[in-house]
Amino acid sequence: MTEFQFLQDGLKDQQPYMQMVQSIMEVRARGPQPLAFVHTYGCQQNVSDGEKIKGMLQQMGYSFTDRQEDADLILFNTCAVREHAEDRVFGNVGALKNIKRRHPSMLIALCGCMMEQEHVAEKIRKSFPFVNLVFGTHSLHRFPQLLYEALFSGKRVIERGVDDHTVVEGIPVRRDGDIKAWLPIMYGCDNFCSYCVVPHVRGRERSRKTEAVLQEARQIISSGYKDITLLGQNVNSYGKNLEHPVSFAQLLSQIDRIPGEYWLRFMTSHPKDATKEMIDVMAQGEHICHHLHLPFQSGSNRVLKAMNRKYTREKYLEMIAYAKSKMPDLSLTSDVIVGFPGETYEEFQETLSLIREVEFTSLFTFIFSPRVGTPAAKMDDPVPYKEKTVWFSELLKVQEEIAAKRCASLVGQTHTVLVEEESGHPGELSGRTQGNMIVEFPGDPSLIGSFAQVKITKARNWILKGELAALVD
Ligand code: SAM
Ligand code: SF4
Repeated sequence: MTEFQFLQDGLKDQQPYMQMVQSIMEVRARGPQPLAFVHTYGCQQNVSDGEKIKGMLQQMGYSFTDRQEDADLILFNTCAVREHAEDRVFGNVGALKNIKRRHPSMLIALCGCMMEQEHVAEKIRKSFPFVNLVFGTHSLHRFPQLLYEALFSGKRVIERGVDDHTVVEGIPVRRDGDIKAWLPIMYGCDNFCSYCVVPHVRGRERSRKTEAVLQEARQIISSGYKDITLLGQNVNSYGKNLEHPVSFAQLLSQIDRIPGEYWLRFMTSHPKDATKEMIDVMAQGEHICHHLHLPFQSGSNRVLKAMNRKYTREKYLEMIAYAKSKMPDLSLTSDVIVGFPGETYEEFQETLSLIREVEFTSLFTFIFSPRVGTPAAKMDDPVPYKEKTVWFSELLKVQEEIAAKRCASLVGQTHTVLVEEESGHPGELSGRTQGNMIVEFPGDPSLIGSFAQVKITKARNWILKGELAALVD
């Protein structure tokens, strides 16, 4: 078994660099305080990493701006999951050339999943000479040192792929909001689905120690956050690398026992590891939302095998049936890929029939995107992209009908809603149900951040309209 290293106070050796960055920026900042523009692309794991980057920057004396033009540091935290995401990053980096010309002291940094790929680092080296700092996901906790080196030397600094066997604790987090909080419980992935770049760029699967997760959960709850999402590429294999292995269901149950007024959810669980024990904990929990995001990717057993998903359509449907039997109000969401190499139209129809059978609340839908270094990128892919877009539209239409039907079935019911923000329509608020459905209703902004009982009066596509029935004590 691989040995993992736990760094309890992971930023200890970074403290001197943090102070030196602060001293340099006191002199070099264009305004009274150094300003950073930080933009994160991609999944929630990346958003969570972005919050750590902002936490470290804050400790180094930086404030934040939404205007690139005003920034002393522009940092893009990138995503490599699909080509489209990569193209957007390259386009946005290219556009920084002119800003950098106007403000030569500005530092431009790129980090995240894309930077762990050799061909990307090479392209940046050759085509984007104005980028000062490049670091990958494994170097996150060394960011202060790397930033210091880039500022001090004036030369470009590139660091990738150093270590994927370490769990680093103690990185400060500057959360993006004050209602919802991301809580990573594990990093990396060992599943190697044949289409996916994540195991190649985020390294081996490694869990945080249970006590570290519980401590952060307690701190999040006592700070007043109301909606906590446990994060991991495959939360169901949580705990396997720990000295005293703990199952995900056990962890979920331990967090659920922390007193307070909050909701608890998690993503993503992998169907091959989803257990009845986990479903039972969900059904019995006090705080756990009856919302399960369980990506099925394809409804065809042949395609699932080629994807290296390690479960069958039947196994998936069996788990869904069990979950529905334990939680009749369960809201199901999922990820699905259209046009995997070699997928036939008949096999795609099996995906549609699974969607019809499960009746998901919503779906994250993707057209297959070949990723360098993955087995699927080398597979024969005879169906033209244009044809895949036609299948994709067919899928969206099926899902839209299901979502509209599900929404309509809620009219007349009263649901607990976590009020998140003003909806954009005068006098109206917007919030979400346990099942992650958006509900809009007239109300006073003082309700933002609290739980309310809302009677659903109308369904408009996937948005529900309602009226306040009561507040939740
Ligand atoms: N670990 C999660 C899981 O197994 O479900 C998902 C992580 S991945 C960042 C999010 C989703 O992106 C996947 O579930 C999959 O549907 C999609 N995805 C990943 N690689 C893809 C590719 N090469 N082409 C299209 N979609 C892809
Ligand atoms: Fe990618 Fe599969 Fe790991 Fe999810 S489980 S991150 S899809 S390899």
